[in-house]
Amino acid sequence: MKNNPHVNAIKQLESVARILESEYQDKKRFTAAIELLKTSQKLIEGEIEVEMDSGEKKKFMAYRSQHSNAVGPYKGGIRFHPNVTKEEVMALSTWMTWKCSVTGLPYGGSKGGVVVDPRKLSQVELERLSRAYARFIAGSIGPWTDIPAPDVNTTPQIMAWMIDEYQQILTKNNNLHENPLAAFTGKPLELGGSEGREEATGLGGVYILEKLTEKLGWRRKSDITIAIQGFGNVGYFFAQHADSLGFRVVAVSDSKSGVYVEKGLDPLKTLECKKESGSISSCLCSNGKCDSKLGRAITNEELLELDVDVLVPAALENVITADNAGKIKAKVIIEMANGPVTPEADKILKQKNILLIPDILANAGGVTTSYFEWVQNLQGYYWTKEEVLGKLRPKMEVAFEKMWTIKQEKKLDGRMATYISAVKRVVDIMMLRGWV
Ligand code: NAD
Repeated sequence: MKNNPHVNAIKQLESVARILESEYQDKKRFTAAIELLKTSQKLIEGEIEVEMDSGEKKKFMAYRSQHSNAVGPYKGGIRFHPNVTKEEVMALSTWMTWKCSVTGLPYGGSKGGVVVDPRKLSQVELERLSRAYARFIAGSIGPWTDIPAPDVNTTPQIMAWMIDEYQQILTKNNNLHENPLAAFTGKPLELGGSEGREEATGLGGVYILEKLTEKLGWRRKSDITIAIQGFGNVGYFFAQHADSLGFRVVAVSDSKSGVYVEKGLDPLKTLECKKESGSISSCLCSNGKCDSKLGRAITNEELLELDVDVLVPAALENVITADNAGKIKAKVIIEMANGPVTPEADKILKQKNILLIPDILANAGGVTTSYFEWVQNLQGYYWTKEEVLGKLRPKMEVAFEKMWTIKQEKKLDGRMATYISAVKRVVDIMMLRGWV
């Protein structure tokens, strides 16, 4: 494997450990903890069999990696994608441990996946695959063990099928004490999902943006220009909340094209216009009106290189690479997508003194609201959207403050400071437990 993501995750942990080590007197215990964190505590792998509409039985490779449960039950999504590999699932479960840790959630990290192209399945085949995967992991998950959620190509509907299958298994085993709703998050609202989950990731990123502007002494929000790549769930809600708080969102894009409106665009109007016209490039909208004279269409590449204060990659991984990092003019990058900056680009951005807030902190509003969903399921009492989003702000702010203190004290970049904060909490808990 040319680019093994698990090897990258290990290298990253090693570079964090080199800085963190000075904080521990007992180097032996510290090193032992880091060694344990280099691999998953448990890896479930095997083939799951699914009956196709033709009657043929097809096998799909399936995985669940449970990286660390030092802090609490494992938590992580399930992805259905042809490129899923064991190494990818292990790396993603490691990053989930750090993401849950940095936000102070009582969770460890996991991730699951099936090697499949779901676009090639009928709806019934997709349901059978989801149920087969739920049977595959049923013995290793539960509200206090491992709590899966949606990830790439998996949806609230898929979670609903999985819960249903899981509940049937519990009933068959006469295990009537477990709460199946709390065993999965990202569920449909009708089946124990949480209010506010849809917009939580984007909004959580905006809370980080607010803290950042405060620290940087950037006073007038209307002067702070923002360009956002991606106008899906995360990109749209980031744009909408930033705009409503008074920031100036000047550019957004989707997979085909983008728009630039210097005086600030109107995210809701832009979304409505995109839905009507089918393309974002003709949606030059500001203050409730769309007019071609208000700005200009731009390409996705141009968006990344705009002279703005804040750049928000909120679409895909690996979009800022060694090829374009040198051309980035933004002062700050908030990684709302997972892994939008390659390690080579990261070095270039550091040399250019661009402040970067990494994905595990910036987009942690999603998993934090999944945690709120789990809490609501466990207590059987449900909060309003305002209550949920009100609880999100302090979680994001505390996580940011911890990172910022480490960054200032140790003179580190944003990514390293975030990882130090995340890894330290896990190592400390491993020591408290006496694991090392
Ligand atoms: P989405 O599918 O709703 O939206 C993705 C957006 O990216 C769309 O606007 C799409 O047009 C655009 N896009 C696709 N290909 C592109 C390309 N080549 N160039 C530019 N834009 C392109 O997905 P989402 O839920 O908004 O997720 C976006 C990113 O955020 C992903 O990396 C995801 O893993 C990450 N993330 C999402 C959540 C969440 O709660 N949804 C949580 C954490 C992380």
